[in-house]
Amino acid sequence: MKKIWIDIDDVMNDFISFIIDELNFYTWKKIKNTDIDFWHLNQIWWVSFDELKDIYKKSDIYSKVPLLQENIDIIKRLENKNYQIIFITSRFLYHDYDTKNVTKMLFRKFWLDNDIYIWMNKSSVCKELWINIFIDDALYNCLDVKNNNDNIDVFILDKLWNWEKELKRLEKEWFDVKNMDQINRIYSLNDLLLWIN
Ligand SMILES: [Mg+2]
Repeated sequence: MKKIWIDIDDVMNDFISFIIDELNFYTWKKIKNTDIDFWHLNQIWWVSFDELKDIYKKSDIYSKVPLLQENIDIIKRLENKNYQIIFITSRFLYHDYDTKNVTKMLFRKFWLDNDIYIWMNKSSVCKELWINIFIDDALYNCLDVKNNNDNIDVFILDKLWNWEKELKRLEKEWFDVKNMDQINRIYSLNDLLLWIN
């Protein structure tokens, strides 16, 4: 059985539009969707990493953002084709807030009971768990997984911020950008289904 790893935020849901509102509310700023050029949101809102983490917790964002119905349907269709779907996220961890359980409960509301992994370094754990297909919205994660796992098919879900804009950011931060041509760009999870067929 082939294993597919799917990122949660901004792949299974429309996380960014929810978190923009929360971050603007708590910081009194007016940042828009089109201002996002990176997934290090603390740099965009000019808050410390700890402040950012704290806003996520205060707003209880992880229990609020619904999964997209069309993507749930695609998960079911992939499972019917005998793929094992595992969700991987780098959602923040806290000592007084159970991120994993909150995320699990949210998924159960949408009748999904798949394994959920919270892992900051996705590429190392991919190797250990024999993943075949990896999908994420962060170019950084896609490149990192591809650069370290040649035989995994990597897909990036196209977002406003994650191709030209994120590439520029990565180059500025001296990330060794290679294998861009090995990353498959898709525009919806349905594209993945077509690719598999
Ligand atoms: Mg994501």
